[in-house]
Amino acid sequence: MTATTVTAEREQELLQSVPTGLLIDGAWRDASSGKTLDVHDPATGKVLLSIQDGNSDDAMAALDSAAAAQHDWALTAPRERAEILRRAFDLVTERAEDFALLMTLEMGKPLAEARGEVAYGAEFLRWFSEETVRHYGRYFTSPEGKNKMIVTHKPVGPSLLITPWNFPLAMATRKVAPAVAAGCTMVLKPAKLTPLTSMLFAEVMQEAGLPKGVLNVVAGSSASAISGPLMKDSRLRKVSFTGSTPVGVKLMQDAANNVLRTSMELGGNAPFLVFADADLDAAVEGAMAAKMRNMGEACTAANRFLVHEDVAVEFKAKFAAALKALNPARGTEPESTVGPIIDGGARDDIHQLVQDSVAAGGEVVTGGQPKDGDGYFYLPTLLSVGNDNPILTEEIFGPVAPVTTFATEEEAIELANASQYGLASYIYTKDVNTMFRVSEQIEFGLVGFNAGVISNASAPFGGVKQSGLGREGGAEGIEEYTTVQYIGMADP
Ligand code: NAD
Repeated sequence: MTATTVTAEREQELLQSVPTGLLIDGAWRDASSGKTLDVHDPATGKVLLSIQDGNSDDAMAALDSAAAAQHDWALTAPRERAEILRRAFDLVTERAEDFALLMTLEMGKPLAEARGEVAYGAEFLRWFSEETVRHYGRYFTSPEGKNKMIVTHKPVGPSLLITPWNFPLAMATRKVAPAVAAGCTMVLKPAKLTPLTSMLFAEVMQEAGLPKGVLNVVAGSSASAISGPLMKDSRLRKVSFTGSTPVGVKLMQDAANNVLRTSMELGGNAPFLVFADADLDAAVEGAMAAKMRNMGEACTAANRFLVHEDVAVEFKAKFAAALKALNPARGTEPESTVGPIIDGGARDDIHQLVQDSVAAGGEVVTGGQPKDGDGYFYLPTLLSVGNDNPILTEEIFGPVAPVTTFATEEEAIELANASQYGLASYIYTKDVNTMFRVSEQIEFGLVGFNAGVISNASAPFGGVKQSGLGREGGAEGIEEYTTVQYIGMADP
């Protein structure tokens, strides 16, 4: 199916097929409060569907279920877990159009981008199905030659997985797949703005053969009502969180009281460095991907364009022309290349950042305004700013690109590192030595070298500084869900 064929009937048919309850102990049930929660379409502001509004009691029931399932689940053969993940990959891939449309409806991204997220998100299922059977320990002779040393891995135990609204499928698969691979049971709490994709995904996991109780899903209007009691319960052993830094800090404080393992994928403020020797057309193409994917609502979104002064005028002209050519429209429309911002409050915040930037001397080259009409659209914006403009220190989370200049490599590195965040960064240069020198000195977990999108299931994704702790994906991803046991054995 292509975007041209999305009809209102097709949307309704899909929405009617999405489970709207809480998944607890293998069954979809109503919230104990009897309350429901509306999920909206950000392109129209209209209600798409009402779901069950889970609370503390429901969260505890989900943990009861996860805790009860943990013992047997940990003892399943790795091959069995691998095959469940592989079947889930096949099922998500078969239903790619459903997942893509559902994400477009509840989150707003254009269908083409949503399809890209399905492919990316599904890869975590395939990657970790392959990792499951190759997660080896070690056996060796002690340095003294007297003992045999055995190092094995065990699942860390019941895990709370908290996901944000911006990548509704990929953020869930990036956590659920390694947890399944490691043999952990789970309580998944999706963001209340975009819970539907997680619910459809959970149904697919059941269909793929996941035993009851292994994956529980509780969505609700109060995140802390769901997470709070679980974080205090000694049966919970881990929290994996993707979201904003302030919430991550709060969860780490709570985790400390219960000595929980934590993985924290937090905010970002990615620098995009363009050196004088860069291929400027390639840099603009990369800038468009790094800035405009997901309407700029990505932790990896380029937020600070640092361009060598010799090429800044040309780069800005080309970048502004590319931004102007975009077409903000509902993601189901064939001509849409930019979707809406997730809600009115987020759009207001973006506009405030732009106004503050202009008040501090920034110049609007293109955009700089909300788009009139239904939904929460914001015009793709390019700002020309000085190095001290306040927008450079904020996570924008929107389609706004501030561009500033540097004169020397040292200055570029200093500007890039002038952030509390350290998630993604991008370097455009034709000189691989420049790339290596700069990469060694910048404090970021991810570097895109002449590439505007680098996330991949096979690679360790994560940040340093206030961007968090731990890695998702890659060989590292499964380690986040395992604990190590060492057995010292006397020589036979
Ligand atoms: P958020 O922190 O508001 O919410 C994230 C999740 O945490 C949601 O499920 C929310 O319901 C829940 N939550 C909120 N308050 C909570 C509380 N007190 N206790 C427990 N859970 C709570 O973030 P958001 O607005 O959904 O997402 C945007 C943020 O996420 C940005 O800062 C972005 O950079 C970050 N993000 C990071 C990554 C990464 O991999 N590093 C990926 C995507 C998004």
